[in-house]
Amino acid sequence: MSFECKECGENFTFLRSLHAHIKKHGLYLGDYYVKHFQKKDKLTGDLIPFKNYKQYFATDFNNPSNMREWCKTAPVEEVKEYIVNTFKKRILSKGLQSMPPAIYLETAGLPDIDICKTVFGSYSETCKQFGMLPMLSRQLPNEFNNNFEDTRIFVDTREQNPLIFKNNQQLKLDVGDYAVMGEDFDYTFVDRKSYQDFCSTVTNGYRRFIKEIERCKSLESFLFVVVEAPFDDLENENKKNFKKFKLDYVFHQMREIQADYSDCCQFIFSGSRQDSIDLIPKILVLGKKLWRVDLQYFWNKKIKHNGLESRQTKTKKRIQRYKPVTRGERGVFGGK
Ligand SMILES: [Zn+2]
Repeated sequence: MSFECKECGENFTFLRSLHAHIKKHGLYLGDYYVKHFQKKDKLTGDLIPFKNYKQYFATDFNNPSNMREWCKTAPVEEVKEYIVNTFKKRILSKGLQSMPPAIYLETAGLPDIDICKTVFGSYSETCKQFGMLPMLSRQLPNEFNNNFEDTRIFVDTREQNPLIFKNNQQLKLDVGDYAVMGEDFDYTFVDRKSYQDFCSTVTNGYRRFIKEIERCKSLESFLFVVVEAPFDDLENENKKNFKKFKLDYVFHQMREIQADYSDCCQFIFSGSRQDSIDLIPKILVLGKKLWRVDLQYFWNKKIKHNGLESRQTKTKKRIQRYKPVTRGERGVFGGK
Protein backbone atom coordinates (compact mmCIF):
# COMPACT_ATOMS: atom_id res chain seq x y z
CA MET A 1 0.00 0.00 0.00
CA SER A 2 1.27 3.45 -0.78
CA PHE A 3 0.14 6.95 0.07
CA GLU A 4 -0.03 9.57 -2.63
CA CYS A 5 0.42 13.26 -1.96
CA LYS A 6 -2.60 14.95 -3.47
CA GLU A 7 -0.65 18.19 -3.85
CA CYS A 8 2.19 16.91 -6.06
CA GLY A 9 1.50 13.25 -6.79
CA GLU A 10 4.56 11.85 -5.04
CA ASN A 11 4.11 8.40 -3.49
CA PHE A 12 5.09 7.28 0.00
CA THR A 13 5.34 3.85 1.57
CA PHE A 14 4.48 5.08 5.02
CA LEU A 15 1.75 7.37 6.16
CA ARG A 16 4.13 9.18 8.46
CA SER A 17 6.50 9.93 5.55
CA LEU A 18 3.59 11.47 3.67
CA HIS A 19 2.67 13.50 6.74
CA ALA A 20 6.24 14.79 7.06
CA HIS A 21 6.20 15.64 3.37
CA ILE A 22 2.93 17.57 3.50
CA LYS A 23 4.58 20.16 5.72
CA LYS A 24 6.91 20.99 2.81
CA HIS A 25 3.89 22.31 0.94
CA GLY A 26 3.38 24.72 3.80
CA LEU A 27 0.21 22.92 4.85
CA TYR A 28 -0.98 21.74 8.23
CA LEU A 29 -2.23 18.15 8.20
CA GLY A 30 -5.74 19.32 9.00
CA ASP A 31 -5.77 21.76 6.08
CA TYR A 32 -4.46 19.09 3.74
CA TYR A 33 -7.07 16.50 4.68
CA VAL A 34 -9.96 18.91 4.77
CA LYS A 35 -8.89 20.22 1.31
CA HIS A 36 -8.48 16.84 -0.37
CA PHE A 37 -10.74 14.52 1.61
CA GLN A 38 -13.62 16.64 2.66
CA LYS A 39 -15.69 14.83 5.24
CA LYS A 40 -19.14 16.06 6.07
CA ASP A 41 -21.61 15.20 8.78
CA LYS A 42 -24.03 12.83 7.04
CA LEU A 43 -27.03 14.57 8.59
CA THR A 44 -26.22 18.27 8.44
CA GLY A 45 -23.55 18.43 5.73
CA ASP A 46 -21.32 20.48 8.06
CA LEU A 47 -17.60 19.87 7.72
CA ILE A 48 -16.09 17.43 10.20
CA PRO A 49 -13.22 19.07 12.06
CA PHE A 50 -9.82 17.39 11.76
CA LYS A 51 -8.29 16.36 15.09
CA ASN A 52 -6.11 13.52 13.90
CA TYR A 53 -5.93 11.10 10.99
CA LYS A 54 -7.62 8.21 12.73
CA GLN A 55 -10.41 10.32 14.19
CA TYR A 56 -11.02 12.11 10.88
CA PHE A 57 -11.59 9.00 8.83
CA ALA A 58 -13.54 7.25 11.59
CA THR A 59 -16.03 10.11 12.05
CA ASP A 60 -19.25 10.45 10.11
CA PHE A 61 -21.15 12.76 12.40
CA ASN A 62 -20.31 15.76 14.53
CA ASN A 63 -22.21 14.32 17.49
CA PRO A 64 -24.16 11.19 18.45
CA SER A 65 -27.55 12.85 18.23
CA ASN A 66 -26.91 13.72 14.56
CA MET A 67 -26.05 10.06 14.02
CA ARG A 68 -29.27 8.91 15.68
CA GLU A 69 -31.37 11.41 13.76
CA TRP A 70 -29.78 10.37 10.47
CA CYS A 71 -30.39 6.67 11.21
CA LYS A 72 -34.07 7.48 11.78
CA THR A 73 -34.51 9.54 8.63
CA ALA A 74 -32.11 8.29 5.93
CA PRO A 75 -33.08 5.55 3.42
CA VAL A 76 -33.07 2.15 5.16
CA GLU A 77 -30.53 0.57 2.79
CA GLU A 78 -28.06 3.35 3.48
CA VAL A 79 -28.58 3.05 7.22
CA LYS A 80 -28.07 -0.72 7.02
CA GLU A 81 -24.81 -0.26 5.21
CA TYR A 82 -23.69 2.37 7.67
CA ILE A 83 -24.50 0.18 10.69
CA VAL A 84 -22.76 -2.86 9.20
CA ASN A 85 -19.60 -0.87 8.37
CA THR A 86 -19.49 0.93 11.70
CA PHE A 87 -19.91 -2.27 13.71
CA LYS A 88 -17.41 -4.17 11.56
CA LYS A 89 -14.74 -1.56 12.28
CA ARG A 90 -15.46 -1.73 15.99
CA ILE A 91 -15.48 -5.54 16.10
CA LEU A 92 -12.14 -5.69 14.30
CA SER A 93 -10.42 -2.94 16.24
CA LYS A 94 -11.56 -4.28 19.63
CA GLY A 95 -11.48 -7.98 18.79
CA LEU A 96 -15.04 -8.39 20.09
CA GLN A 97 -16.25 -11.99 20.36
CA SER A 98 -19.91 -11.13 20.78
CA MET A 99 -22.08 -8.08 20.23
CA PRO A 100 -22.05 -5.53 23.04
CA PRO A 101 -25.02 -4.40 25.16
CA ALA A 102 -26.84 -1.05 25.22
CA ILE A 103 -24.52 0.68 27.66
CA TYR A 104 -21.54 -0.12 25.45
CA LEU A 105 -23.19 1.03 22.22
CA GLU A 106 -24.37 4.29 23.70
CA THR A 107 -21.12 5.27 25.37
CA ALA A 108 -19.13 4.37 22.25
CA GLY A 109 -21.36 6.57 20.07
CA LEU A 110 -22.53 3.53 18.07
CA PRO A 111 -26.06 3.09 16.68
CA ASP A 112 -28.19 1.92 19.61
CA ILE A 113 -30.31 -1.19 19.99
CA ASP A 114 -33.55 0.53 19.03
CA ILE A 115 -32.02 1.77 15.79
CA CYS A 116 -30.79 -1.76 15.06
CA LYS A 117 -34.26 -3.12 15.81
CA THR A 118 -35.90 -0.69 13.41
CA VAL A 119 -33.46 -1.44 10.62
CA PHE A 120 -32.89 -5.20 10.99
CA GLY A 121 -36.01 -6.27 12.91
CA SER A 122 -34.15 -7.24 16.09
CA TYR A 123 -30.79 -6.91 17.74
CA SER A 124 -30.09 -10.64 17.32
CA GLU A 125 -30.76 -10.25 13.61
CA THR A 126 -28.30 -7.33 13.57
CA CYS A 127 -25.70 -9.50 15.30
CA LYS A 128 -26.19 -12.22 12.65
CA GLN A 129 -24.84 -9.81 10.05
CA PHE A 130 -21.48 -10.37 11.73
CA GLY A 131 -21.99 -14.04 12.55
CA MET A 132 -22.15 -13.17 16.23
CA LEU A 133 -24.50 -13.38 19.17
CA PRO A 134 -25.34 -10.58 21.59
CA MET A 135 -23.28 -10.59 24.81
CA LEU A 136 -26.53 -10.23 26.73
CA SER A 137 -29.33 -11.86 24.83
CA ARG A 138 -32.10 -12.83 27.24
CA GLN A 139 -35.45 -11.13 27.52
CA LEU A 140 -36.46 -9.47 30.75
CA PRO A 141 -38.48 -12.03 32.77
CA ASN A 142 -42.06 -11.03 33.59
CA GLU A 143 -41.33 -11.39 37.32
CA PHE A 144 -39.20 -8.28 37.03
CA ASN A 145 -42.36 -6.25 37.53
CA ASN A 146 -43.23 -8.06 40.76
CA ASN A 147 -42.90 -6.26 44.04
CA PHE A 148 -39.75 -7.26 45.90
CA GLU A 149 -39.66 -4.44 48.42
CA ASP A 150 -40.26 -6.73 51.43
CA THR A 151 -37.20 -8.85 50.64
CA ARG A 152 -34.61 -8.85 53.39
CA ILE A 153 -31.55 -7.12 51.99
CA PHE A 154 -28.19 -7.73 53.60
CA VAL A 155 -25.96 -4.69 53.57
CA ASP A 156 -22.20 -4.98 53.93
CA THR A 157 -20.96 -3.54 57.20
CA ARG A 158 -18.32 -1.54 55.32
CA GLU A 159 -20.85 0.15 52.99
CA GLN A 160 -20.21 3.89 53.42
CA ASN A 161 -23.52 5.37 52.39
CA PRO A 162 -26.08 2.55 52.67
CA LEU A 163 -29.42 2.62 50.93
CA ILE A 164 -32.30 2.08 53.30
CA PHE A 165 -34.52 -0.82 52.30
CA LYS A 166 -37.77 -1.72 54.00
CA ASN A 167 -36.15 -4.86 55.37
CA ASN A 168 -32.48 -4.17 56.05
CA GLN A 169 -29.86 -6.19 57.83
CA GLN A 170 -26.17 -5.57 58.23
CA LEU A 171 -23.68 -8.34 57.52
CA LYS A 172 -20.08 -8.60 56.44
CA LEU A 173 -20.25 -9.68 52.78
CA ASP A 174 -17.49 -11.36 50.79
CA VAL A 175 -18.48 -9.70 47.54
CA GLY A 176 -20.30 -6.46 46.83
CA ASP A 177 -22.33 -4.21 49.12
CA TYR A 178 -25.76 -5.87 48.93
CA ALA A 179 -26.98 -9.45 48.85
CA VAL A 180 -29.90 -11.67 49.75
CA MET A 181 -29.53 -14.88 51.74
CA GLY A 182 -31.15 -18.26 52.26
CA GLU A 183 -33.73 -19.33 49.70
CA ASP A 184 -33.51 -16.02 47.89
CA PHE A 185 -29.76 -16.23 47.27
CA ASP A 186 -28.97 -16.85 43.61
CA TYR A 187 -25.21 -16.23 43.36
CA THR A 188 -25.80 -12.56 42.67
CA PHE A 189 -24.32 -9.51 44.37
CA VAL A 190 -24.71 -5.77 43.96
CA ASP A 191 -22.06 -3.10 44.27
CA ARG A 192 -23.53 0.35 44.87
CA LYS A 193 -21.62 3.27 43.47
CA SER A 194 -22.17 6.97 43.41
CA TYR A 195 -21.29 8.55 40.10
CA GLN A 196 -17.96 9.68 41.47
CA ASP A 197 -17.15 6.24 42.94
CA PHE A 198 -17.92 4.68 39.60
CA CYS A 199 -15.56 7.01 37.76
CA SER A 200 -12.69 6.39 40.14
CA THR A 201 -13.34 2.64 40.34
CA VAL A 202 -12.94 2.06 36.60
CA THR A 203 -9.96 4.41 36.29
CA ASN A 204 -7.65 4.72 39.33
CA GLY A 205 -9.22 1.70 41.03
CA TYR A 206 -9.20 -0.46 37.89
CA ARG A 207 -6.88 -3.19 39.16
CA ARG A 208 -8.56 -3.49 42.50
CA PHE A 209 -11.92 -3.69 40.83
CA ILE A 210 -10.76 -6.41 38.43
CA LYS A 211 -9.67 -8.39 41.48
CA GLU A 212 -13.14 -8.06 42.94
CA ILE A 213 -14.72 -9.28 39.71
CA GLU A 214 -12.28 -12.17 39.55
CA ARG A 215 -13.18 -13.15 43.10
CA CYS A 216 -16.85 -13.01 42.17
CA LYS A 217 -16.20 -15.18 39.13
CA SER A 218 -14.29 -17.73 41.19
CA LEU A 219 -17.39 -18.04 43.39
CA GLU A 220 -19.44 -18.70 40.23
CA SER A 221 -21.32 -15.53 41.04
CA PHE A 222 -22.31 -12.36 39.25
CA LEU A 223 -21.75 -8.75 40.25
CA PHE A 224 -24.14 -5.99 39.20
CA VAL A 225 -22.59 -2.57 39.63
CA VAL A 226 -25.48 -0.21 40.26
CA VAL A 227 -24.51 3.42 39.72
CA GLU A 228 -26.90 5.92 41.25
CA ALA A 229 -26.82 8.38 38.37
CA PRO A 230 -29.02 8.98 35.35
CA PHE A 231 -27.55 7.37 32.26
CA ASP A 232 -28.87 10.04 29.89
CA ASP A 233 -27.40 12.88 31.83
CA LEU A 234 -23.86 11.92 32.75
CA GLU A 235 -22.27 14.96 31.17
CA ASN A 236 -24.26 17.16 33.51
CA GLU A 237 -23.54 14.83 36.37
CA ASN A 238 -19.86 15.28 35.58
CA LYS A 239 -20.21 19.05 35.74
CA LYS A 240 -21.85 18.85 39.16
CA ASN A 241 -19.03 16.84 40.66
CA PHE A 242 -16.17 18.56 42.28
CA LYS A 243 -13.68 16.13 40.82
CA LYS A 244 -14.21 16.06 37.08
CA PHE A 245 -13.42 12.98 35.08
CA LYS A 246 -12.64 12.55 31.41
CA LEU A 247 -15.85 10.80 30.46
CA ASP A 248 -14.38 9.31 27.30
CA TYR A 249 -11.72 7.61 29.34
CA VAL A 250 -14.12 6.49 32.07
CA PHE A 251 -16.43 4.90 29.51
CA HIS A 252 -13.57 3.39 27.59
CA GLN A 253 -12.47 1.62 30.77
CA MET A 254 -16.00 0.52 31.55
CA ARG A 255 -16.44 -0.91 28.05
CA GLU A 256 -13.21 -2.88 28.33
CA ILE A 257 -14.43 -4.41 31.59
CA GLN A 258 -17.88 -5.06 30.16
CA ALA A 259 -16.43 -6.81 27.11
CA ASP A 260 -13.99 -8.95 29.13
CA TYR A 261 -16.32 -9.90 31.96
CA SER A 262 -19.80 -10.00 30.48
CA ASP A 263 -20.20 -13.49 32.01
CA CYS A 264 -19.89 -12.21 35.58
CA CYS A 265 -20.38 -8.43 35.66
CA GLN A 266 -22.77 -5.77 34.42
CA PHE A 267 -22.90 -2.04 34.97
CA ILE A 268 -26.23 -0.35 35.29
CA PHE A 269 -27.07 3.32 35.79
CA SER A 270 -30.20 3.27 37.91
CA GLY A 271 -31.13 6.97 37.71
CA SER A 272 -30.97 7.92 41.37
CA ARG A 273 -30.70 6.50 44.89
CA GLN A 274 -34.46 5.99 44.99
CA ASP A 275 -34.30 4.09 41.70
CA SER A 276 -31.51 1.96 43.15
CA ILE A 277 -33.78 1.05 46.06
CA ASP A 278 -36.39 -0.15 43.54
CA LEU A 279 -33.92 -1.96 41.35
CA ILE A 280 -31.53 -3.75 43.72
CA PRO A 281 -34.02 -6.21 45.32
CA LYS A 282 -35.19 -7.23 41.83
CA ILE A 283 -31.61 -7.91 40.77
CA LEU A 284 -30.78 -9.89 43.89
CA VAL A 285 -33.89 -12.07 43.94
CA LEU A 286 -34.14 -12.73 40.20
CA GLY A 287 -30.40 -13.40 40.16
CA LYS A 288 -29.40 -15.77 37.36
CA LYS A 289 -32.51 -14.92 35.38
CA LEU A 290 -30.96 -11.49 34.82
CA TRP A 291 -27.34 -12.41 34.20
CA ARG A 292 -27.80 -12.61 30.44
CA VAL A 293 -30.33 -9.75 30.23
CA ASP A 294 -29.22 -6.36 28.94
CA LEU A 295 -30.57 -4.74 32.07
CA GLN A 296 -29.64 -1.15 31.21
CA TYR A 297 -31.65 -1.38 28.01
CA PHE A 298 -34.81 -2.53 29.78
CA TRP A 299 -34.34 -0.30 32.80
CA ASN A 300 -34.07 2.80 30.59
CA LYS A 301 -37.40 1.87 29.03
CA LYS A 302 -38.96 1.37 32.45
CA ILE A 303 -37.69 4.71 33.72
CA LYS A 304 -38.95 6.51 30.63
CA HIS A 305 -42.25 4.67 30.93
CA ASN A 306 -42.66 5.78 34.54
CA GLY A 307 -41.90 9.33 33.57
CA LEU A 308 -39.15 9.48 36.15
CA GLU A 309 -37.10 11.54 33.78
CA SER A 310 -39.52 14.40 33.89
CA ARG A 311 -39.66 14.11 37.65
CA GLN A 312 -35.98 14.68 38.09
CA THR A 313 -35.68 18.19 39.30
CA LYS A 314 -33.07 20.25 37.61
CA THR A 315 -33.14 23.13 40.00
CA LYS A 316 -29.84 24.55 41.03
CA LYS A 317 -28.85 24.13 44.61
CA ARG A 318 -29.07 27.41 46.41
CA ILE A 319 -26.17 28.23 48.58
CA GLN A 320 -27.42 29.09 52.00
CA ARG A 321 -25.18 31.74 53.41
CA TYR A 322 -24.62 31.73 57.10
CA LYS A 323 -26.69 34.58 58.34
CA PRO A 324 -25.53 35.95 61.67
CA VAL A 325 -28.25 36.86 64.06
CA THR A 326 -27.98 40.50 64.97
CA ARG A 327 -26.81 41.23 68.46
CA GLY A 328 -29.81 43.19 69.38
CA GLU A 329 -32.08 40.21 68.83
CA ARG A 330 -29.88 37.73 70.60
CA GLY A 331 -28.16 39.56 73.37
CA VAL A 332 -29.37 39.11 76.86
CA PHE A 333 -29.18 42.77 77.40
CA GLY A 334 -30.67 43.66 74.10
CA GLY A 335 -34.31 43.62 73.47
CA LYS A 336 -36.49 45.98 71.61
ZN1 LIG B 1 3.53 16.68 -2.28
